[in-house]
Amino acid sequence: MEGLNPDLPLRLVPLGGLGEFGLNAMVLEWGERLLLVDAGVMFANAELPGVDSIVPDFQYLADRADKLEGIVLTHGHEDHIGALSVALDVAPAPVYGSRLTLGFAERRLRERGVDADLRTLVPGTPVQLGPFRLNPIRVAHSVLDSLALAIETPAGVVLASGDFKIDRDASPEESTDIEALAEWGRRGVLVLLSDSTNVEQRGRSRGEDTVIPALREVFERTPGRILVTCFASAIPRIQRVADLARAAGRRLAMIGRRMADNADVALDLGLLRLPPSDVLSPGAVSTYAPRNLALLVAGSQGEPLSALSLISVGEHRDVTVGPGDTVVFSSRVIPGNERGVSRVISNLYRRGCDVVHPGHAHVHVSGHAGQEDLVELMQLVQPRYLVPVHGEYRMLVQHKHLARQAGLDEERVHVVEDGDVLAFANGVARREDRVAAGRILIDRSGSGEVEDFVLRDRRHLSAEGVVVPIIVLDKQTGHLEGAPGIVTRGFVDDDADLMDDATRLLVETVDARPIEERADPSLLRERLRAELKRFFKKRTQRRPMVIPVVMEI
Ligand SMILES: [Zn+2]
Ligand SMILES: [Zn+2]
Repeated sequence: MEGLNPDLPLRLVPLGGLGEFGLNAMVLEWGERLLLVDAGVMFANAELPGVDSIVPDFQYLADRADKLEGIVLTHGHEDHIGALSVALDVAPAPVYGSRLTLGFAERRLRERGVDADLRTLVPGTPVQLGPFRLNPIRVAHSVLDSLALAIETPAGVVLASGDFKIDRDASPEESTDIEALAEWGRRGVLVLLSDSTNVEQRGRSRGEDTVIPALREVFERTPGRILVTCFASAIPRIQRVADLARAAGRRLAMIGRRMADNADVALDLGLLRLPPSDVLSPGAVSTYAPRNLALLVAGSQGEPLSALSLISVGEHRDVTVGPGDTVVFSSRVIPGNERGVSRVISNLYRRGCDVVHPGHAHVHVSGHAGQEDLVELMQLVQPRYLVPVHGEYRMLVQHKHLARQAGLDEERVHVVEDGDVLAFANGVARREDRVAAGRILIDRSGSGEVEDFVLRDRRHLSAEGVVVPIIVLDKQTGHLEGAPGIVTRGFVDDDADLMDDATRLLVETVDARPIEERADPSLLRERLRAELKRFFKKRTQRRPMVIPVVMEI
């Protein structure tokens, strides 16, 4: 990298994943050139009804779109690749990742009609991107083909762990390349960005193979169908279930679109090793005897419309369950999904089948490093600085405490959150002014509209107020039952003429609506909303939020 001024600072700009689970997105910036590491979503849950997914606010990237050298993905989990289409939308750039990661990413992009320039990374083969030199390093995680990245910059080496654990018993293609990490430690690492997800777990994370005995026991004692639910991306787990099924003479089927999709990608790449003839189509499942079936089923988080949820209430097209069958939850519950999972388990019990979950059997291991793994990584890499990533604030802080065990002084650990900028010049870290970072919610309607609804609504409410017209209709005749009411907040309503006219407009709108709309109050609500908005804009030059309430009695 001759000719590049090593005195220029390297800036780390976290856009997501520091202070929360998911949303992983970290910008590296040197000499006005940018590299984005990961572009993940945060999964929506019951607290945000109607919201499909949550993505990082990429405004910082959008403002510098022409300076982005590339987007590099550490692995194929949604919290690292799920927001790729949004990032590409604001800042098109080549996308780098391992084969499986790009395989998953390509499917998601195709679903959203997004084209991308995808370039495969191979562990041990560096790639130069402007001032950044990417050195991919294989790591063990719950999805195959996961990478840590040693990123050389003129200001020093950034080592991003990605999501990882150290599983010493794993086969070479599933294990962490300890030697490569140690080699970077010897060459010198300026800053380590390390996964904090499991910083609260003592000891080491257990190996993937340790789930086999408990799963085998299920295969040995279940007379009927065996259903295993896990994350659809958990190819190592799917492989182990497939191996057990084959040994037990059971045919396999992937139930649920994402489960089938991901298995397809992994099969195509030769990363899921099983004869394609072993895999039944979901439609063929009902033609086999229960004792000859092992099903991998999507829906481990109790998602309401997932295959497992539908099976649990007897609503699935291809799969039924009952006495003699066993359902295994080979997954953890993501915080926020406890109620949904609990409901599904209860419903499965109601149908008479047995349920096995990590609460009472060792049928799941985490893909993230426990405390001893984290300390080992710090000792291998010997970074000058540590920046804990991937986790809620309390985990980032605990990672800082843990760093002492690896001999890292507190002043060499920087606990930063989304939008906090760290600059490294001549080997010294310094905080800079914050930049805009936040979350954008995407709604289920899939209109392609991307907007921060919460912020928009709050801004709108505080600036313009809210008007709630209340209409009561006779269910039989569809006529008004008395005069409409109007409730307002944060909106001047002391103008009696204005409110009288608004009420008159409501009456006219109700009376004038076409006969075929009478069966559907939502159409009337829309009509009232549009009319009132137009009315207030014309009369007051303001645009209050209008939320009509239509009741039928
Ligand atoms: Zn992650
Ligand atoms: Zn992950």
